[in-house]
Amino acid sequence: MSILATPIEKLPFVGPRALSRLKNLGIKTVKDLLWHLPSRYEDFSQITPIGELVPDQTANVVGKLIALENQRSWKRRMTVTNAEVEDDTGAIRVVWFNQPYLEKNLPLGSLVSLAGKVKLDKKGMLLSSPVYEKLSTINYKLKTGLVHTGRLVPVYPETAGITSKYLRFLIKPALQQIKGLADPLPPALVTKYALPNLEQAIYRLHYPTTLAEAEQAKKRLAFDELFLFQLRSIINRRKQLRLNAPSIKLNEALAKQVVTSLPFTLTNDQRLAAFEILKDLERKYPMNRLLNGDVGSGKTVVALIAAYLAAQQGWQTIFMAPTEVLAQQHYQTITTLLNAKDQMTNDKNPITVGLLTANNAKRWPTEGILEEDIGKAALKNKIANGEIKIIIGTQAVLQKGVAFGNLALVVIDEQHRFGVEQRMQLVKSSLRTTNYKLQTIPVPHLLSMTATPIPRTLALTIYGDLDISLIKEKPAERKPIVTKLVTADQRAAAYQFIDQQIAQGRQVFVICPRIERPSPEIATPDIASRRNASKDTRAQRQLQLRHWDVWAEVKAVTDEFEKLNKDIFPHRKVAMLHGKLKPREKDAIMRDFKAQHYDILVSTSVIEVGIDIPNASIMYIENAERFGLAQLHQFRGRVGRGEHQSYCMLVNGINNQTENRRLKALVETNDGFKLAEADLLLRGPGEFIGTKQSGIPDLAMASLADLDLIKKARLEARLLIKDDPNLKAYPALAEKLKEFQRIRHFE
Ligand code: ADP
Ligand code: MG
Repeated sequence: MSILATPIEKLPFVGPRALSRLKNLGIKTVKDLLWHLPSRYEDFSQITPIGELVPDQTANVVGKLIALENQRSWKRRMTVTNAEVEDDTGAIRVVWFNQPYLEKNLPLGSLVSLAGKVKLDKKGMLLSSPVYEKLSTINYKLKTGLVHTGRLVPVYPETAGITSKYLRFLIKPALQQIKGLADPLPPALVTKYALPNLEQAIYRLHYPTTLAEAEQAKKRLAFDELFLFQLRSIINRRKQLRLNAPSIKLNEALAKQVVTSLPFTLTNDQRLAAFEILKDLERKYPMNRLLNGDVGSGKTVVALIAAYLAAQQGWQTIFMAPTEVLAQQHYQTITTLLNAKDQMTNDKNPITVGLLTANNAKRWPTEGILEEDIGKAALKNKIANGEIKIIIGTQAVLQKGVAFGNLALVVIDEQHRFGVEQRMQLVKSSLRTTNYKLQTIPVPHLLSMTATPIPRTLALTIYGDLDISLIKEKPAERKPIVTKLVTADQRAAAYQFIDQQIAQGRQVFVICPRIERPSPEIATPDIASRRNASKDTRAQRQLQLRHWDVWAEVKAVTDEFEKLNKDIFPHRKVAMLHGKLKPREKDAIMRDFKAQHYDILVSTSVIEVGIDIPNASIMYIENAERFGLAQLHQFRGRVGRGEHQSYCMLVNGINNQTENRRLKALVETNDGFKLAEADLLLRGPGEFIGTKQSGIPDLAMASLADLDLIKKARLEARLLIKDDPNLKAYPALAEKLKEFQRIRHFE
């Protein structure tokens, strides 16, 4: 077994308590430990002569221990260690707390290196609780072997009970064991870009001699990950070319007919996107395309054109929506548009549409006296025998036990990324009926749609195996949304404005960042239990207290709902929506709001993406500073979808200038792509994509904004695959790529 795979419990000094805490940090193996990279470095590379120390300075001194004594303080229930250290220039007092073992560890006369803060008390200057290391003279001169002092010292992301000092203690010896570590990166690349090899990079990240050296090492590891991303996309694309897909003819006359029958003119971007999709559908291998268009840019109709052409040639399309409400909305839009078309062209042979969700089984057009609601079994039958050409539903339902007659196109709405496995599952379900004459199994074309604008660097890396169609333009007649920053003292005026809008028949969204405040008992531990608490539960409590401070400023949805419902708008109908509600409850509230049973909807960020409520004209956001620009823009996109002038009000809860400046970007532009780029730069990719869901390694994440590095990785990956498509000459790289494929997991 490679040393890297060694579980950390095999290491000395990792007991059961530390083990579970390390696991909280995601550290399970020696590899995880070595890849737990410093978040910063403490610069103790300069040794300060004791005679030159000044109060409040953080310094590293080296000297001889000339006094050390433990003192037990009963009153304060702790041990105080008083010591003194001298060098050629002077002597200084040193104080440690609760480390009685120091008496044994540091015999008088030891040469020590101490790093910490210089403080001043009644008796003069002292070093307070410094990190210490015992030195041999030689060590000191050569500055080797030092771990905690006397150099750039790594400071790690910590957790309760796991300090940087402890981590250094584990990591330093582990570093000695990776001599000769296999480097997956082709040596030619290491040379070409003057990168450190893997072993050097890891070592230098933990113990650099200069910050520039650490930077270079970081770049090397980031390059590895970007390179793997690129290899993966190239290989996936090649695989895709070998699959079979139904080829759907681009019947231009028919496409024109649909387009002219629409109640509006398509924008140029919509036209172009539709054309790109139809071109893809003609090919014999499956399309893998992302339709990226800002909220309200009209993606649904673009997908519908493709579905219509497929249907005319006998193929089925499914539209998968993330929720019941969205599925119903699509069903309504699509049947309305098709109906208008049939009327206009006097088509006696309409395309059939089905809606299949947990609570719905509908078929359109209704046949004579037959009902629109036909029951699930009947609908599934009609899907399986190919009679229903456009099937709309929720992913949850469509991925479970629905057989398709002849599925050619899968449209996924509001999904950033759609996994190969899910597509495979759809293929499998389409195979349950075996009316295929084809020898090879056709894989359906895939169109995913998202309203989250994707900055270029991300498009090149994490979405590298997708083709992308962009809709940047909005339909011409849309009125731009008026966006305003609202200060706390303007709230009353804002409420008044909201009330006027409601009086005119409009509806309002109010967004708050949290569900409810924590109960005060949790947040304020009583003094008695605090005194008895062990050290780290105390730390945890302190953390809780800090959270409490943060929470206290945050408008909580439940509070806000109470306030608006009872005090501010007692004469209006107010509803509340948050993530703790069951999906069914959420759906019901959204449906009722859409049906105008409520005037105001108070919600957390769970508020539906893609929901179309043309009557809503105000998006009011409390604590707007807590959201990213891209997300705020998404919220804003919930309004301005009808003929009414719409407004977005951003309340900056902390009213600080930096935040105001950031939020101004929203006031100044309605362009989601510009905002996404700005957001990526301001908040970094981690926040932008959401590290947790994406499963993207930290370093790659950190470098996702580095266009230059991404381009290099892309170029090199292409060249390598061209030369050696199966990575025969690079087994370590092939292995790494396999591992990378496994951990890759987008929501
Ligand atoms: P999104 O891209 O956010 O999913 P939708 O597809 O829901 O947007 O479209 C939003 C609304 O705009 C729908 O009511 C749709 O019928 C309408 N729409 C789409 N394209 C146009 C257009 N070119 N001109 C006018 N209205 C359009
Ligand atoms: Mg949509």
